[in-house]
Amino acid sequence: MRYNALSVIKNGLRGNIDWTRAWRDPEPKPAYDVIVIGGGGHGLATAYYLAKNHGVKNVAVIEKGWLGGGNAGRNTTIVRSNYMMPGNREFYSFSLKLWEDLSHELNYNVMFSQRAHINLVFSPAQRDALARRYNTMLLDGDDGEWWDRDRLKKRVPHLNMDGRYPIEGAYVQPRAGTARHDAVNWGYARAADALGVDILQNTEVTGFVRKAGRIVGVETNRGEIRAEKIGMAVAGHTSTLAAKAGLGKLPIESHVLQAYVSEPLKPFLDAVVVFGVGHGHFYISQSDKGGLVFGGDLDMHNSYAQAGTLPRYTDVMGCAMNILPATGRIKLLRQWGGVMDMSMDGSPFIDRTEIPGLYLNAGWCYGGFKATPASGWCFAHTIARDEPHEANARLTLSRYREGRQIDETGGGPVPNHH
Ligand SMILES: Cc1cc2nc3c(=O)[nH]c(=O)nc-3n(C[C@H](O)[C@H](O)[C@H](O)COP(=O)(O)OP(=O)(O)OC[C@H]3O[C@@H](n4cnc5c(N)ncnc54)[C@H](O)[C@@H]3O)c2cc1C
Repeated sequence: MRYNALSVIKNGLRGNIDWTRAWRDPEPKPAYDVIVIGGGGHGLATAYYLAKNHGVKNVAVIEKGWLGGGNAGRNTTIVRSNYMMPGNREFYSFSLKLWEDLSHELNYNVMFSQRAHINLVFSPAQRDALARRYNTMLLDGDDGEWWDRDRLKKRVPHLNMDGRYPIEGAYVQPRAGTARHDAVNWGYARAADALGVDILQNTEVTGFVRKAGRIVGVETNRGEIRAEKIGMAVAGHTSTLAAKAGLGKLPIESHVLQAYVSEPLKPFLDAVVVFGVGHGHFYISQSDKGGLVFGGDLDMHNSYAQAGTLPRYTDVMGCAMNILPATGRIKLLRQWGGVMDMSMDGSPFIDRTEIPGLYLNAGWCYGGFKATPASGWCFAHTIARDEPHEANARLTLSRYREGRQIDETGGGPVPNHH
């Protein structure tokens, strides 16, 4: 069923009884051409582009819980492409272009809002570092601007310009913004299902089936399911599942990251405002329902808990009060955590593995929501053609061995520093 104005009117007049389910709830088949493990945004997008771009429609997405129960439904929804390093640069730039047409592509409103991403600058050194980054973006055809104090104050009137660290201005990406995370998952699920993909929720992969050195299927709580090719997109659970597949120790650690949402407010902030590098780490925007959505750094210890601890909470609240003192008057409504797949250089992997038939999509750290469309596009390409797309050619597992780290922040080989 197509979603459009006419169908809204027709169904409204008929009492809304004719809407069909957005996706089916099928029984698993004994075998598929491709299995994608993980029903987050990346897994669902991969299945959609496998069917749409490569005609591979005999596909199952296997999700142990519900769609979007992982990080895809827990993030602060920031979408941008202000990356500088080769590898990240072309990949995230491609992703932002896909976001711009995603609602039409999926026939589902993902509420992508290009409200600008404002990166605050507090010192000359920070300005120089960001100037280099934003100039690199301009050279590649992306957008980036310097805003002085007056322009910044006009756009974000609540900003405390002369606090403990006076704000000098900001580097801004106007095409960046936010999207509705659940809608992205549901949009990809519905579109993939319409092309014949089976979405198997409440189905956990507990092991792998091997034959002559290849992986030829998965063991699940609903029985064995065979496939010629298997892609893993399980974010924070990558290490545990990779160990079951026999992939050895991957350059990935699991860390918890918290998010916070306030009570709904009148319009307060119509852009994404962030700061980082040397002055703490903080990002905030306002959702369409009115809640302020914000977060900061990792909790800095390995964890599989989808919660968080008090020290990070107090730190993030301090950052909020520092730049937006008015937030001290609002109530916090909700808080949660997500389990991040932090890589050693802070950049992701979309690659084949050393095990024939097994493909890896991981290492998204806390930036993988914005990657969703390109990640799905490139992972589908890698699985279908057994070679990378040009946008993920550098996102390989072998890059550490080859001395080609993609260390965007210069944090060094320490996962929680990225
Ligand atoms: C608090 C927070 C804020 C963030 N903010 C941003 C942001 O503003 N912008 C941004 O770009 N990114 C952000 N991120 C990162 C982003 O959310 C993730 O990188 C992205 O959602 C990863 O998507 P995914 O599909 O790979 O993973 P997930 O959505 O986590 O999906 C993986 C799925 O695999 C399933 N799974 C695991 N093991 C198995 C198994 N054995 N069998 C079957 N299924 C299994 C899980 O249940 C899960 O649903 C944030 C993350 C968090 C937690």
